[in-house]
Amino acid sequence: MQPTIFERIIAREIPSTIEFEDDRVIAIRDIAPSAPVHVLIIPKRVIRNVDDLSEQDTELIGHVFLVARDLARKYGVVDNGYRVVTNCNEHAGQTVFHLHFHLLAGEPLGRMNSRPPRSAGSTRSMLFEGGLLVIAAIALAAVFNSMNPRQIPWVKKEYERTQATQNDIQKYLAPPEATGQNKPVDVTVDQPTAAPTKTEAAAPTTTAAPAASPSAEKPKNTFVADPGKVLEIGYDAFVRLISTGSFHLIDARTPEKYSEGHIANAINIYGGEAQSRIPDIIQSPRDRVILIYCDGGECELSHHVADVLKQFGYGPIFIYTGGWAEWKTKH
Ligand code: 5GP
Repeated sequence: MQPTIFERIIAREIPSTIEFEDDRVIAIRDIAPSAPVHVLIIPKRVIRNVDDLSEQDTELIGHVFLVARDLARKYGVVDNGYRVVTNCNEHAGQTVFHLHFHLLAGEPLGRMNSRPPRSAGSTRSMLFEGGLLVIAAIALAAVFNSMNPRQIPWVKKEYERTQATQNDIQKYLAPPEATGQNKPVDVTVDQPTAAPTKTEAAAPTTTAAPAASPSAEKPKNTFVADPGKVLEIGYDAFVRLISTGSFHLIDARTPEKYSEGHIANAINIYGGEAQSRIPDIIQSPRDRVILIYCDGGECELSHHVADVLKQFGYGPIFIYTGGWAEWKTKH
């Protein structure tokens, strides 16, 4: 059998820094210290590890500890403390299979009950288990999403976002003499009400702008349909359009948010449910501009409602991107 590195150090075939030596042990500085004081106390007799000890070694091991004690005193580490350990076989991390004791000191050494780092194998199995969990979570989410009437689309749809120009708006702002309306319609915030049921909301003609509905006083020919046209607008344009009193106003937010407060005369068609509201939508007359608002921001939900309306030839549709958030602060 090949001699271990420590046998060769004892035989002076390999150099080392010797801290103590007698006929039974040698103490050398560790070549790769784990602490400011790291000395290896090595019995000279060839013993593989603790498991290889026998009764006859009792006195030798006692001697090792006395050497450790004396070295600790010599280094002045007794008061702060030190550790004497030996490793046996793989799980303990033994790398040199010749019995030796580590004397460690010079800094806090940490507690002995900390978990060792995981091996590559167990890390791999952890990753595998984690991966399985993620897949299971995604599958569950997909199932729940498919059962949910307010389904979230898997792929975010990119809507064409075109800002309305003055001209786009102007043609729907009938001059006062043509409409007989020069007084802005009072569009205030409705008090919280229960969200309309589908049937209630199914009649946008009566709920869209009952107080403001100008159909009696406004000549029909002031509205020019522009099927499929969807444009985004800001606060000023929105205010000017609702001031005409001739519009269908749709709140594309969730029924819960709508119930908490919404712009007067708005009906609630939640973006996520627009598809299921098609029967309601197609009953609505196409005699006015459609205004849709969201919470404010990208107005995905409003665009979704607009998309469905577009399919049925409605237009123009104006999306107020400042939405409820802006409206609330400015009104
Ligand atoms: P084990 O890992 O077996 O408990 O400890 C073996 C120790 O021997 C390690 O801390 C390692 O740094 C030290 N060691 C390995 N080879 C040499 C060497 O050639 N010279 C010295 N002085 N220490 C060594």
